[in-house]
Amino acid sequence: MSLPAYPVEAVANLPGSPTPAPADAPLDFRSGATAARRHLFNGGTAARYRTVLTRGVDRMARRVAGVDRPFTGVTPGELAPRVAGIDLDRPLGDTAAALDELDEVYLRDAVWFHHPRYLAHLNCPVVIPALLGEAVLSAVNSSLDTWDQSIGATLIERRLIDWTAERIGLGPAADGVFTSGGSQSNLQALLLAREEACQAAPGREARAELLPRLRVLTSTAGHFSVQKSANLLGLAPDAVLTIPTDAQRRMIPAVLRREIERCRREGLVVMAVVATAGTTDFGSIDPLDEIAGVCAATGVWLHVDAAYGCGLLASPTRRHLLDGIERADSVTVDYHKSFFQPVSSSAVLVRDRRVLRHVTYHADYLNPARMVEQRIPNQVDKSLQTTRRFDALKLWLTLRVMGPDLLGDLFDEVVDRAAGAWELISEDPRFEVVTRSPLSTVVFRYLPTGPGRGLADEANLYAREALAASGAALVAGTTVDGRHFLKFTLLNPETTLDDVGHVLQLIAEHAGRYVHERSTADLACRVG
Ligand SMILES: *Cc1c(COP(=O)(O)O)cnc(C)c1O
Repeated sequence: MSLPAYPVEAVANLPGSPTPAPADAPLDFRSGATAARRHLFNGGTAARYRTVLTRGVDRMARRVAGVDRPFTGVTPGELAPRVAGIDLDRPLGDTAAALDELDEVYLRDAVWFHHPRYLAHLNCPVVIPALLGEAVLSAVNSSLDTWDQSIGATLIERRLIDWTAERIGLGPAADGVFTSGGSQSNLQALLLAREEACQAAPGREARAELLPRLRVLTSTAGHFSVQKSANLLGLAPDAVLTIPTDAQRRMIPAVLRREIERCRREGLVVMAVVATAGTTDFGSIDPLDEIAGVCAATGVWLHVDAAYGCGLLASPTRRHLLDGIERADSVTVDYHKSFFQPVSSSAVLVRDRRVLRHVTYHADYLNPARMVEQRIPNQVDKSLQTTRRFDALKLWLTLRVMGPDLLGDLFDEVVDRAAGAWELISEDPRFEVVTRSPLSTVVFRYLPTGPGRGLADEANLYAREALAASGAALVAGTTVDGRHFLKFTLLNPETTLDDVGHVLQLIAEHAGRYVHERSTADLACRVG
């Protein structure tokens, strides 16, 4: 066996060496370069890498096997001193001790998204092939900015972009890039739309005159990153106009068309319509085909924010719910929301790859223009980021181990469960439910009866907090027409209707107790 030229001490760690050094012996952290170099990941420290990572994985496996509720209920006041009390200039020098400490400040009180009674935000349980991908991608540490730092990784990312674009149906000229999340994807899509709109006004003055007149239309249930993006893009403070939704919280296309016409009459330029395929609160899907029709007729860029609804792209039974998405100019997908991928894993896709030139800048040290002529694929030419993680690997291993159908089955299952939860809540006189989602959220609230009727807002707020403090379950909250509501986001196929029923019972108990105590207190006040 030929060994690479590594220091003797490190070589002693390789499997088959006569006297393996203890892989995690306590280190004197002042003993200089040799000790420090034992922490570098390379061929000479492979055995140490294996031991340290195995130890960490072993801890995680034991930790996750012991989780009996989604949260401990710890407060910032309890946890902050524990974190603040750690002297970062005095290392423990030893993995086991560092993991013990980590347990104290993080793992013991972590929120567990895999727990069946975690029903709050759009953060999913993750699949094991993706966790393997996470370990591999950080060990190799490819950076997806240039070909010469990524090689196969660039090709893998491009295949996944093509795969996603094909599932959407964007056509042969489609392209895109992985991003850090839906917010960044929306920002990039709107940047491209802005630049396309500005092409009609070449020259500095024309552009300066046009920018404040640009408008973006989205529904009242659209994501707040649209507003944030508009701001970052230097648009006017009132550049985002919201279109009302129907009873199912879907954008009303007829109003959209009228609003585009009104903008034009007033000399405003609609640079993009943002349709949402899976609104964050209601899981509603805007009528994509009709909206695409309006955009086609008026020549407006259509961006579809499918950060949440993209899971349907893999669904063996529900892909039709996204019909019309194939007509978009750009699409946001968040694999870390409905493809069971760890954060971060997201992408922005475009129908016409040429529009990505709006984010192409050349730097002599990195991606000089001549590389384009040499057809060297540098992903930085398409991205807002420079150094960028190989997040695509997680999805790649997921698809290669599980395949898309099994992923889609998992998502289908949570959609079915949400339908069951909706029925359960709508038949329960203690609760009021808002809309029936084609995806996996349920927005509802506890309805007090009798003298406490006016306390609905406070009772629901209280129930959510009390539930979190107990750690028995986590649910989300939102407002609907100014009233406080609760929200289940079901992303875990392990969640059963029994779990849902149990959590509803807990909510009713907390809220009921609040209403009872407040009404008797008020009564006591009045009597006294
Ligand atoms: C979550 C979400 C986003 C933002 O995505 P991040 O990955 O959290 O940045 C955008 N749009 C919709 C509809 C979302 O649900």
